[in-house]
Amino acid sequence: MQSLRAHLESRRGRMVDALRRYIELETPSRDRELGNALAGLLEERLAGYGAAVTRTPLPPFGDVVTARWTEVADPAEKPVLVLLHYDTVWPVGTLAARPVTVDDTHLAGPGAYDMKASLVIVEEALLALSRTGLTPKRPVTVMITSDEEVGSPESRRAIEAEALASNHVLVLEPPLAGGALKSARKGVGRFVVRAHGRAAHAGLEPEKGVNAIVELARHLPAIADLGDKTLETTVNPGLISGGTSRNTVAAFAECELDVRAWTIAEADRVESALRAISPQHPEASIEIEGSFHRPPMELTPASAALLDQATAIAEELGQTLKHGRVGGASDANLTSALGVPTLDGLGALGEGAHAQNEKIEIDSLISRSELLAALLHRL
Ligand SMILES: [Zn+2]
Repeated sequence: MQSLRAHLESRRGRMVDALRRYIELETPSRDRELGNALAGLLEERLAGYGAAVTRTPLPPFGDVVTARWTEVADPAEKPVLVLLHYDTVWPVGTLAARPVTVDDTHLAGPGAYDMKASLVIVEEALLALSRTGLTPKRPVTVMITSDEEVGSPESRRAIEAEALASNHVLVLEPPLAGGALKSARKGVGRFVVRAHGRAAHAGLEPEKGVNAIVELARHLPAIADLGDKTLETTVNPGLISGGTSRNTVAAFAECELDVRAWTIAEADRVESALRAISPQHPEASIEIEGSFHRPPMELTPASAALLDQATAIAEELGQTLKHGRVGGASDANLTSALGVPTLDGLGALGEGAHAQNEKIEIDSLISRSELLAALLHRL
């Protein structure tokens, strides 16, 4: 595997060029046309690296790019799913204000760290394997989505279907500081609590009304108390609205909640408590809408075993692989909740995800490509 390193070091300049090119095609999640411009480039490049590539429309987002390598050591094995996204949180025009800059050690630019560097890492890992005569152990499916930054509303089903057909999943989100993998992530739920009452004139016949604002307000302290400090479960009533005018008894009110939990048990506890809320006024009604669109990613025994294997492989490469947990969610939450062993945080080292100072360490393009190539070869 020493030849991997030498090959990848010779690619340093090309990696920087490719990353610059990917960043200079701006890809905010909700711009289908811009997304497709990058999807087209990825399709062409991955096909050039020997993959069978398909593009799946995902309106209103850009196309999902799926690339499959089947000339592998054991084509009959279950595939490995390598999961990425090409959309970024940056609106069009960010690049003009903050163009790509490169020095000896870092490349900075919008989307570099989350996660356009990962596009480079995946293609370089697969190229490195073929150039050094090493093959992936099992078929490789690379899936590059376009709506991750807005919670994967449209790609979720496709991701889940692909994960269920796979032996394990490697997610190339940015790592923790220093390169540690993300082995557990909080689940995120979005819920809306709606109260329905009855409108009436606040001056003429207030007794005929049922005030939905008052009804909703009665439940909010208990809802906020569903959080658990010890288990770090949070329930945040974050947005509230209701009523039609000051002098009308409010017929309607609603509150949007952000719920986060480390474990599926905690997520279930909060969700069932919300669904069990019953109105206090006999003529009011309460309606709960929402779900954990990102279920908690727990470090399951199967994922822990995969992590141990990856750590050992990294050690053979002279790399130290640590891991930790984070409050934010990713597509790894989806695949892990299905029970498919998942490793996340395999992207380039750097800092400033979703921030002005976003940049990556150029050396890590080499080390992470090497790690991914070795994981594809061995796992
Ligand atoms: Zn990301």
